[in-house]
Amino acid sequence: MKTNIQRDPSCADDYDPASLSVDEARTKIQEGMQPLLSKEKLALRSCLNRVLAEDINSPLEVPAHTNSAMDGYAIIGSDLPDEGEVKCYEVIGTAFAGVVFEGTCQAGQVVRIMTGAVIPNGCDTVVMQEHVEVLDEVDNQPKIQLGGGHQVGQNVRHAGEDIAIGDVVLSKGRRITPADLGVLASLGIGEIFVYRRPRVAFFSTGDELRSIGETLEKGQIYDSNRYTLYGMLKRLNVEIFDMGVINDHPDTMREAFKMAAEMADVIITSGGVSVGEADYIKPILEELGEINFFKIAMKPGRPLTFGKVDNARFFGLPGNPVSVMVTFYQFVQPALQYLSSGQINFPRTIQARCKTALRKRPGRFEFQRGIYEQAENGEILVSKTGQQGSGILSSMSQANCFILLSVETTSLEVGEMVEIQPFDGFI
Ligand code: AMP
Ligand code: MG
Repeated sequence: MKTNIQRDPSCADDYDPASLSVDEARTKIQEGMQPLLSKEKLALRSCLNRVLAEDINSPLEVPAHTNSAMDGYAIIGSDLPDEGEVKCYEVIGTAFAGVVFEGTCQAGQVVRIMTGAVIPNGCDTVVMQEHVEVLDEVDNQPKIQLGGGHQVGQNVRHAGEDIAIGDVVLSKGRRITPADLGVLASLGIGEIFVYRRPRVAFFSTGDELRSIGETLEKGQIYDSNRYTLYGMLKRLNVEIFDMGVINDHPDTMREAFKMAAEMADVIITSGGVSVGEADYIKPILEELGEINFFKIAMKPGRPLTFGKVDNARFFGLPGNPVSVMVTFYQFVQPALQYLSSGQINFPRTIQARCKTALRKRPGRFEFQRGIYEQAENGEILVSKTGQQGSGILSSMSQANCFILLSVETTSLEVGEMVEIQPFDGFI
């Protein structure tokens, strides 16, 4: 019997020869992106998480002065007692951090010194106070006694040993961390050049979507994708323009795209990229710009649209809430990183032992949602969250990692090893 049902690949099939691999899709997206790389000068505190647009050369030596690493006594190294010998020294003064001892130490003399204080003239060595015996004063003259076993030069931090003048302390392209803010402050640098943040406009599509505060009629749902997208974008330090919900109507959608392209470097939408009757993204994009419709051999998130409207890059994410998050983390986040810095750091993956069996058919790369933990013996264990459907957003909320199951992988039993991608890496 003949039917006219076309056997086009659908989301339910697991193998589709026309599909791109996850890596191929990433490469195509990167090829279509041009890093922004325009600079702005900002005060230090505003630079956290921003991308450095210049190499920072040190204007100073760090430490600026040769100083003591211990509370103790500064001494001339060649005047230390030999092995088995005990010697007596006059304490001729005290050096504090920030208060220099101006005198010069001679043989037979030491200077009491605190951690961070400048090493007095003549001295090159510090003996910890715990290794010294303080003697009774005679005629107001403090004295100490010291045995052998000390090294010339010990407990001294040399000027420039951490950073020399002119050293590159932070390189262009680096994302500024809290430690970097401290390093820059220690060099007296108050302003730096960073790249401007990408401007990202996003909207949800779908006549069934309602905003919080509205009453739901039968068949309607609250728009959750705009909130997950907001959260994921917020962590990336990009400028965010939330354009709300756009109805499944060609005119409204056309206007939304035009407006988004005027204000943003990147446009992100969710929903409307299938081939359903209310899926207008594709025809409108074809009219206004360029469009690449990717079928990716992955689950969830097989259909992903990537294109251009004027100068803005466009990502059309699937509508299902889990697919939105998976495709954002796997494709959009690296693309935004590349746009803002010219570099990409994919989140680290680690090996974990399965605590639950994992079911999978070969044919697609799966990003299942998992919960990983560290066992008492240090081993990383992972179990899957309950249901894995692409509409079950609570699976993302419970999870703390993706479980990565390669195209060929079939089911895994308890105790087998699997690759995971902790969510911490996505910040
Ligand atoms: P679509 O690709 O537009 O056919 O959407 C696929 C599924 O995702 C449908 O069940 C939609 O109702 C759902 N969906 C689309 N957009 C959203 C959204 N913003 N929030 C929650 N669910 C959505
Ligand atoms: Mg829709």
